[in-house]
Amino acid sequence: ERTKGRPLAALDETLAPGEGRNDHKDLIAADARHVLHPWADLSAMSDEDALVVQDAKGVHVQDSEGKTYLDAIGGMWCMTVGYGRDELVDAMADQARKMTYYTPFGDVSSEPAARLAQKLAELSPGDLNRVHFTTCGSTAIDSAVRIAHYYHASQGQPERRHVLSRKNAYHGSTYLAASLCGKAADRTLFQYEKDFVHHLSSPGYDADIAEESSEQRLAELLAEMEAKIEELGPETVAAFVAEPILASGGVLVPPEGYQKATRELCAKHGILYISDEVVTGFGRLGHFFASEVRFGIVPDMIITAKGITSGYQPLGAVLISDRIADAIGESAPENKPVFSNGYTYSGHPVACATALKNIEIMEREDIPGHVREVGPYFMKRLRELTDLPIVYTVRGDHLMACVECWTGEEAGPTAKNMALAQRVDSYCQSAGLLVRPYENLCILSPPLIVGRAQIDKIVTILEDALLRAAKDLA
Ligand code: PLP
Repeated sequence: ERTKGRPLAALDETLAPGEGRNDHKDLIAADARHVLHPWADLSAMSDEDALVVQDAKGVHVQDSEGKTYLDAIGGMWCMTVGYGRDELVDAMADQARKMTYYTPFGDVSSEPAARLAQKLAELSPGDLNRVHFTTCGSTAIDSAVRIAHYYHASQGQPERRHVLSRKNAYHGSTYLAASLCGKAADRTLFQYEKDFVHHLSSPGYDADIAEESSEQRLAELLAEMEAKIEELGPETVAAFVAEPILASGGVLVPPEGYQKATRELCAKHGILYISDEVVTGFGRLGHFFASEVRFGIVPDMIITAKGITSGYQPLGAVLISDRIADAIGESAPENKPVFSNGYTYSGHPVACATALKNIEIMEREDIPGHVREVGPYFMKRLRELTDLPIVYTVRGDHLMACVECWTGEEAGPTAKNMALAQRVDSYCQSAGLLVRPYENLCILSPPLIVGRAQIDKIVTILEDALLRAAKDLA
């Protein structure tokens, strides 16, 4: 399948047929009674239908009844090198045996954290040579906004506090990260930060269904952003936070040139550009970071998490430009205030050792190159589904994609369309394929080692599920 690079070790590994567990029912009952799941429908919590995953290898996972699935969710955007890689498990164990944990506060470091920061500086674009480690993507977003505020204040501009985000954005689940999220349906019952967070329009542009040209759409988005900056006062805006392609908001791809134009607008007004590459980074678009290579921009900060460890360990990081880090350092007064941000588990040694090994495997097996090869094939095969009766559109880029469902009446996340996507999801699951239902979308983000034969299998099962769901409608 591969025409260049070394063979992918885990590509063809499948799980042996599993044994169901005797305690399967106990596990489900314990879960239903006691676990408050993240991002779950609370009204559906007692229906005891949780999927308890007990085993995983390559691109497959197995549940506690011994049923194997091809995981086209990639453990939720995380999985790069595949499940169950002994090399990674050994790296984790070696570090745990050597030195599991010590505080990272102040000027205390660990070998894995120092080496990983050096490696990330090598992989990142431009002068993004400083790394602030966090525990996940949400805490990295939170930290980046704090760094932006701290930087501006250190430059004598404490009035720069407004932060621009976009509708449909997803940036995580700390209170500030959640405030930056822009999905209306998620903004329930909580008290979000309204004082300094502002949402611009969602920048998604889908040429297959759009009524306007890409240039028109881009011009509108830029005019809106410029107007918002003027309204707030350019000297009061601290940062713009943006996923290059919006992931969990529905795999929304902005019009051509959007990232570059927004970056230029930020630079013009002294606004820091924070690129959230939690999903687009670490190979999903075919590069360690997509900002520069794919979109032609060097942001002021890049956020990474998930794929940095292939999800084997929790870890997040903010990559910061020397320009900003140096300016903070140089302008600090004699009795300089402490940069009071960080977590007990920032740069956890076991997580950093895992990330280093993950990067080593990705480089050795040229996984970004593999994605550049299979990504277009994945999108081409998925786009073949566009003509099916309940498919409204298919969109995405390399190994991040979604199929948008509709009943043929009204497009969008209506109750009927969402029920339809759920039905597609459960047909897929029965046939041994995990896709992620989100509103009226089926989101796909397979492990990056996915091969062409597995892509064919994903598309075949999905097509069958879509046809069955369409038949149910008739
Ligand atoms: N940013 C983006 C683009 C994400 O997709 C996510 C999670 O899905 C986050 C941030 C938050 O990351 P975490 O769940 O690790 O806190």
